[in-house]
Amino acid sequence: MTRVLYGGKEETSEAWKRALLALRPGLDLVMPAENVPPESIDIILYEPSGPVKDMTVYRNIAAIQSLWAGVEALLDNDTLPKGPPLLRMVEDGLTEGMTDYITGHVLRAHLGVVRQQADQAREIWGSFNPPLSRDRHVGVIGLGALGQDAAKMLAKLRFRVSGWSRTQKDIADVRCLCGTDGFDRIIRENEIIVLLAPLTPETENLIDEKALNKMPHGVHIINAARGGLIDEDALLGALNSGRVATATLDVMRTEPLPDGHTLWKHPGVTITPHIASVTRPESAAKTVIEQIKRFETGKPFLHKVCREKGY
Ligand code: NDP
Repeated sequence: MTRVLYGGKEETSEAWKRALLALRPGLDLVMPAENVPPESIDIILYEPSGPVKDMTVYRNIAAIQSLWAGVEALLDNDTLPKGPPLLRMVEDGLTEGMTDYITGHVLRAHLGVVRQQADQAREIWGSFNPPLSRDRHVGVIGLGALGQDAAKMLAKLRFRVSGWSRTQKDIADVRCLCGTDGFDRIIRENEIIVLLAPLTPETENLIDEKALNKMPHGVHIINAARGGLIDEDALLGALNSGRVATATLDVMRTEPLPDGHTLWKHPGVTITPHIASVTRPESAAKTVIEQIKRFETGKPFLHKVCREKGY
């Protein structure tokens, strides 16, 4: 029988246990505290903040299933075995939660909520009317599990949506771009830019001073991916010059954002504490059980990480 080690956070262990056993009663799910022989483990459910630190002892594992969508911390683990596949978390709850966050914050940028609140604080009866969403250009950087769903929902809300990815995509009602030219177009032609690409050596500081200078004046940036995608000093400069009207940042280079950091109090910045979305055991258990079934029936795993590309 397949033996699965839960290596997530203690506080979510009961929820995971309940959700997994509901779908697969009798699943051999073990907790690190149970001290079973490490070589008897087939699949590890891994979370960087969980208790599994040294993976060298799990000599027979068939796969490491990340409980997070982002895998840069997993790839940074020095004890990561070279052989077994690493699996990203893709699950409906995580995807839908992210789409809620993105659509909410795109609408907020579109409607000029930050500007209205600044007017209200100064008791100004302003006259700003946003354009219709059909006339608003939104660019989504990263068209993976999360970016695609968000882009589709934005298109349903009638925004003019473009998306950018490494490989060319074909998504109804979304103008799909890729490559260096595509990047240039996505940052030049959109008034609201959403970041949903992984942090890799290629995407680190993707949004630097040069990129910011190409964006339209008064652009809105929403980063729900990883803090390392943005050069924060360059962003602050662009916020101060008005090039960037607002930045909604769910992720920072250093988390939690340090006390006294300039971003905390900048009037154009909305900080959310890395809560854009989260893996939900009740929906994510389906993904995990599917991976276990695939292992048992010799089918290829889903959502494999490419170690070379870093996502
Ligand atoms: P995926 O791996 O499914 O998608 C990544 C997308 O980014 C793909 O479209 C990929 O292109 C594109 N991409 C990667 N590298 C490049 C590059 N160099 N140039 C152009 N495009 C690139 O990831 P998910 O959609 O599942 O998640 C995206 C990120 O969201 C995660 O890595 C994580 O960091 C973040 N996240 C944040 C959360 C939060 O609460 N703030 C919660 C969950 C995730 P291609 O399709 O061609 O491969």
